[in-house]
Amino acid sequence: MVDIHLHSKFSFDSNEEPAAYVEAAKMLGADRFGFSEHYDYDAYLDGAKDVTLCDIANYHKSFKSLKTDGVDMLFGIEFGYRKEAIEHYNELSAKFRFDYVINSVHTLKGRGDCYHSAFFEGRTLEDAYRDYLKGVLESVTSNLDFDVVGHIGYVARYKKGEKVRLCYSKYSDILDDILSAIIERGKCLEINTSSGTCGSRFLPDESIIERYLALGGKLISFGSDAHRATDFMRKSSQLESFLSEKGVKELVYFKDRNPIAYPIISMS
Ligand SMILES: [Zn+2]
Ligand SMILES: [Zn+2]
Repeated sequence: MVDIHLHSKFSFDSNEEPAAYVEAAKMLGADRFGFSEHYDYDAYLDGAKDVTLCDIANYHKSFKSLKTDGVDMLFGIEFGYRKEAIEHYNELSAKFRFDYVINSVHTLKGRGDCYHSAFFEGRTLEDAYRDYLKGVLESVTSNLDFDVVGHIGYVARYKKGEKVRLCYSKYSDILDDILSAIIERGKCLEINTSSGTCGSRFLPDESIIERYLALGGKLISFGSDAHRATDFMRKSSQLESFLSEKGVKELVYFKDRNPIAYPIISMS
């Protein structure tokens, strides 16, 4: 499988050297992977002090000069969705010619990042989850120029205390709207294997992935969301077994904004 959700020191929350991923890939026999550094203009608009914006020009320069040792590397970005940031993001996409853009909801206007406990204060968990999903629906139907929908269920990843999965059954109405929009617009659903303590093995939860497949969803990408090279390809064999059981034969990665299919199980 091709891991296309990776962070290095060009993301505010990682110290990893990009070259460490090349080493990890060589060690695991992976011949391709993709970086997707954070660019959270949403948090910047909120004045979040712990978030610095990625210097994309520098990131690009480092990417171009990285010794690949035969590993094919992809130049991606993870944009933190916010309606007010769309124009800025689309300008960046036109300027930097990414291989792919991941559209992720991390923050909601007036509520901040789902990462912080304040996001859940003063309301029921169901309301907080539903509010997050409304943000995801807005993002997938927006005019943001993107390819992949990142880690649906992120809101559950950092919730403190009791684990409560964000499952299909409880939010089926809005999840159907989200999944249908992804399919109709030809976008790709990411399966992110950094599920933290949310109780699900993957993000989105398996029940949501099953629904996506039942609705006819075909485009799926894999991302470990590693912030250090030791997490590269995290849980890829678990995901491989799960998808094979569901009859999924192909995943995609992106090059020059085009999805490229590859078989989940290598023939070698
Ligand atoms: Zn993210
Ligand atoms: Zn990420």
